[in-house]
Amino acid sequence: MQFNLSSMLSNSARRNPTNAFLVTSETRHTFAEMEARAGHAATVLARHGIRLGDRVILRLPNRIDFVPYYYGLLRLGAVVVPVNPGLSAREVDVISEEAGVRFAVVEDEDAVELPTSVVRLNLGALLAEEATCDETTPAALVDGDDTALVIFTSGTTGRPKGAELGHQQLFLTALLEGDEFGITSEDVTLGVLPLFHVYGLSGILHSATLRAQAIYLMDAYSTAAVFDAIEHHGVSVLIGVPTMYHAMVTGDRAGRDLSRARIAVSGGAPMPSETIRALDGLFPGITYLEGYGMTETCSSGTVNGGPYPFREGSIGRPLWGIELAVVDASETQLPLGPEHVGELVMRGHNVMKGYLDAPEATRETLCDGWMHTGDLAWIDDDGYVYIVGRAKELIIRGGFNVYPREVEEVLRLHDAVIDAAVVGRPDPHHGEEVVAFVVAGPDGIDAAALIAFSSERLAAFKYPREVITMDALPQGATGKIDKQRLVTLATEAWQGVRS
Ligand code: ATP
Ligand code: MG
Repeated sequence: MQFNLSSMLSNSARRNPTNAFLVTSETRHTFAEMEARAGHAATVLARHGIRLGDRVILRLPNRIDFVPYYYGLLRLGAVVVPVNPGLSAREVDVISEEAGVRFAVVEDEDAVELPTSVVRLNLGALLAEEATCDETTPAALVDGDDTALVIFTSGTTGRPKGAELGHQQLFLTALLEGDEFGITSEDVTLGVLPLFHVYGLSGILHSATLRAQAIYLMDAYSTAAVFDAIEHHGVSVLIGVPTMYHAMVTGDRAGRDLSRARIAVSGGAPMPSETIRALDGLFPGITYLEGYGMTETCSSGTVNGGPYPFREGSIGRPLWGIELAVVDASETQLPLGPEHVGELVMRGHNVMKGYLDAPEATRETLCDGWMHTGDLAWIDDDGYVYIVGRAKELIIRGGFNVYPREVEEVLRLHDAVIDAAVVGRPDPHHGEEVVAFVVAGPDGIDAAALIAFSSERLAAFKYPREVITMDALPQGATGKIDKQRLVTLATEAWQGVRS
């Protein structure tokens, strides 16, 4: 079936040309303008030699020009490889090599050194050509299954992997996600999540393009700027990650009217129950939804809330057309019954084609269409899924499984704890020891008292034996807590004590 994802923009521009698409504190850009610019961008990019099937890095922050260049590349049938502008030259080198990249669109002032095999296209020069360009290139004929994007995973558990995603599956995901979240063409979505990540691309950009709906675009998170966006720029749908919501509920809201925010969606990492409860106090009457998904599943595969009643602690049920199951994580991979913890597997139109040019990694991850998520979960009798943590972050202390998330939830109940993250460090006696990293309130925290507090609420093998205080928990580019860094810190601190 012939289908180009960029047709979402052409269709919305044809039907709703004057609708606002991209809005900032200073500017407003309509669908008609963005469609024309994407057509010109495609012409300019083609002049530089970009052709159907070429893999092209798009390394831009959340700026207006991201959008026409993204859709311009898709229009040519090129495969877009969105890249975090914060990655080092070495990291870009690895991606270029793995993805067989031929071109890269970057900001003029971007000092990154690209490999010699990659043609560097400076955005400033492209924009100057675009300004004098009066031709519009039509969308290339691509098949719905052809690869539109290669997105590298967040690298939370190791080296990022390039997931190959097709035109049609990305379209279906944006359609279903937005519908199940209850987003309408009247909404204005907060556009602060990075567009180079699948969550921002699908949940924010694709969804808004499809619905001819506006995005309030921001290039960096600040609580005050988000509150301004709601109060003064009509933002009604918040799409974010737990660290953002945590900052909002602990931020300064004095004198603010935040009543316009009607939907808050979280995803990408576990959302603490404390933060969910605090959201209603901040945004009275808001509908809170939690999505779960991965780069490899085009973004959301489940939603809690929306079409079904919300259940605390769950990531909800699968989106339309998607199947979920929990399997024994051992060799046998047998399906497990309700309430048994095992590895969550997912099947459906949203599952990636595979990891780019990595058949072995693909075979290990995709079996009979089932995507092995690497997340441990259980499913209740009504089909609601509960994530207990990542398999790679599971702590095994003295032969017993400790799920960091459960310990973190307990630590957050303590009045002096603002935020908490739990990891395991190697231990000669128990195999691993449970270590808590906490951000303390203004009066600080007494480690011994916090350990005692946890020991009263958790089994003896679960509660942390060490507490390390930090000003803030380290985060990756997409706002996830960098647990690999915490494991290193915990191990170093322990070795320091021993030597
Ligand atoms: P890498 O695969 O490179 O280690 P990553 O898994 O963080 O990085 P992403 O594809 O951005 O890369 O994230 C997907 C993961 O995020 C899921 O496998 C899951 O662990 C976590 N996640 C996403 N949504 C939720 C959620 N609602 N609750 C808990 N965890 C979530
Ligand atoms: Mg992953």
